[in-house]
Formats: sequence, structure tokens, C-alpha cells
Amino acid sequence: MFKFKIGDQVLITAGKDKGKKSKIEKILPHENKLVIAGVNVYKRHRRATRNQAAGTYEVTRPISVANIAIICPKCTNPTRIGFILNEKSPAFRPGKSIKNGKSLPAGSLRKASKQGKIRICKKCKGHI
Ligand SMILES: [Zn+2]
Repeated sequence: MFKFKIGDQVLITAGKDKGKKSKIEKILPHENKLVIAGVNVYKRHRRATRNQAAGTYEVTRPISVANIAIICPKCTNPTRIGFILNEKSPAFRPGKSIKNGKSLPAGSLRKASKQGKIRICKKCKGHI
């Protein structure tokens, strides 16, 4: 399960926009990259086509998740994300970890990974 969601507030920790804070606009899970508003913007000079005039266009390029820290909306610190199982999830068993949940009937775990897990801040343990 991917840690990031569209609209999350993030801090850039490396690269040319290091230190900037912005919001996630788009997620590319297969490449482990994110498009963040106003971050990693490059100027491209484009030739004129039928649909657009020639000139300089600003293109926001995706940035690797390795260079991004999520900002917790509860404690406003850059943090890491953990997952806990939702109590209402069909895979939830008190005292059982997610790994041990493998013994559950087929389908229930897949369901759990879709809707049963809750993101938590590793610093303040608050739900994000
Ligand atoms: Zn927090």
C-alpha cells in the first residue's frame, strides 16, 4: 500500500527544491514518484504545433519519493508513516499483527489492505 495520498502536505528533503513545502498533485506508484505543485519545475522550449504556440512552457516533473517527507497535519512535523489495522476491518484480530493475518480466509486480507489500514504518524501516533 502506498504511503502517499493526493493532497498530502510534504517537505522536499533533497534536490533543487530542498526545503520547500507543497501539496501532492499526482502519484506515479509504479515509478515511486510524485508530482508536487510548484516543485521540480523546468522550462521547456516547445516548437509550435497545431494545438499550441511556440514558446517557453513550465513543466512540473515527478520527484522520487526518497526525497520527500510527509508533514503530519496533527503535529506539523516532517515525519514517517506507519500503518495499523482498522478495528472494523475483517482482517482485524486483537493481538495479531498484519503479517500473522495471512492465516485468514482468502480475500479478507486483500480487502483489509484496501480499506482496513489506517495511516499513523510515527512521531505523534495520530491518524493522518
Ligand atoms: Zn504527527
